[in-house]
Amino acid sequence: MYDYLIVGAGPAGCVIAERIAAILDKSVLIVEIRNHIGGNAYDYYDQHGILIHKYGPHIFHTNSKVVFDYLSQFTAWHLFELRVAANVDGQKVPIPINLDTINELYGLNFSETDLIKFFELAAEPVDSVTNSEDVVISKIGKDLYSKFFKNYTKKQWDLWPDELDPSVCARIPTRTNRDSRYFTDKYQVMPKEGYTELFRKMINHPNIHLMLQTDYRAIEQVIPYKRLIYTGCIDAYFNYKFGKLPYRSLTFSFETFDLEYYQNTAIVNYPNEYDFTRITEFKHMTRQMHPKTTLSYEYPAAVGQPYYPIPRDENTKIYNKYKAEADKLKNVWFVGRLGTYKYYNMDQVVTQALNLFESLKSLENI
Ligand code: FAD
Ligand code: UDP
Repeated sequence: MYDYLIVGAGPAGCVIAERIAAILDKSVLIVEIRNHIGGNAYDYYDQHGILIHKYGPHIFHTNSKVVFDYLSQFTAWHLFELRVAANVDGQKVPIPINLDTINELYGLNFSETDLIKFFELAAEPVDSVTNSEDVVISKIGKDLYSKFFKNYTKKQWDLWPDELDPSVCARIPTRTNRDSRYFTDKYQVMPKEGYTELFRKMINHPNIHLMLQTDYRAIEQVIPYKRLIYTGCIDAYFNYKFGKLPYRSLTFSFETFDLEYYQNTAIVNYPNEYDFTRITEFKHMTRQMHPKTTLSYEYPAAVGQPYYPIPRDENTKIYNKYKAEADKLKNVWFVGRLGTYKYYNMDQVVTQALNLFESLKSLENI
């Protein structure tokens, strides 16, 4: 009899397993349907010996010292500030849009003050920002919106920005200075030996037993447990009784070149051309020295692994029905990007898992 059954060995499942095993001294069984741990943050060495991210580029960034200190128990880090170029009008310019983006794009020599005025003139104010088109147009206007956001979003989600919550395009700010970093968080780092190694160390505890290639449905009636923590899709847990929650998927295609580097930045976005959204060159972020380089191309897809919850009202309504059911259950908790249907980055998922652990602690009277 296990004290806790945890479904999914992604970031959420691994964090909660580690806390329960190490702090509560309870027994944990993690079941993971894939043949590896780490969830979508999984990385591995490809056949050329290059460290790649199987499910797309993962860059760790957070403002939370708590999360950073917690993860630092399991890995050393190297600093990495992501810079992304967008291929627009035949040029590779920085995204998020900043002073250099505008000057390069239009052949100008604006100062920051000029750019503030330029955005003020271009912006089309809206009474209330209700979707991802409003978010962008109300700050920088239609022209830049069309060049950088409109078609990328359609490609990525098969929805136009005005069909998505403001939060989606609000992930990408606009700057009037020359800061070309993708993120501005206080901690921007990569695990020195990779994510898989970080999570392997995290769950390497005598109280934790891991079963890979196991769907929890195959064992839930067979292996006894007291409490369940579920990080898979919440609609699947409830047999889709309120209908399927939509998820956006991707297919990845990897290519290796006999070159030290292929592109100048770790990621290049292609908003307007091609069927893929972006090309990632992993060596920029992993700092690996190797005479060859491996790239990934991301092709958005309607079917496949559930990579992205799709933030829009009609989906939130369905999710809320599942959430209400989930709240009625005793000894079952839902956590993580799929378990709570939230477009969360890794640090947000770690925060969520650490918060859940605080509730479990009081339940266990600790
Ligand atoms: P997951 O990583 O999805 O793990 C859930 C696990 O549960 C999976 O391994 C799954 O196989 C398993 N599972 C599901 N159902 C079952 C079942 N029935 N039985 C057994 N196992 C099951 N975040 C960042 O912070 N920075 C980034 O740069 C970044 N880039 C990203 C790029 C892409 C393309 C994607 C898709 C995501 C990115 N993320 C990034 C987000 C990050 O992947 C997630 O925040 C994180 O993986 C969520 O962790 P999780 O444990 O909630 O879910
Ligand atoms: N986006 C865009 N153009 C870009 C980059 C992002 O329109 O060049 C929009 C798009 O809708 C995307 C969202 O902003 O899905 C969030 O981008 P982010 O890079 O955070 O996506 P993720 O890394 O999560 O796939």
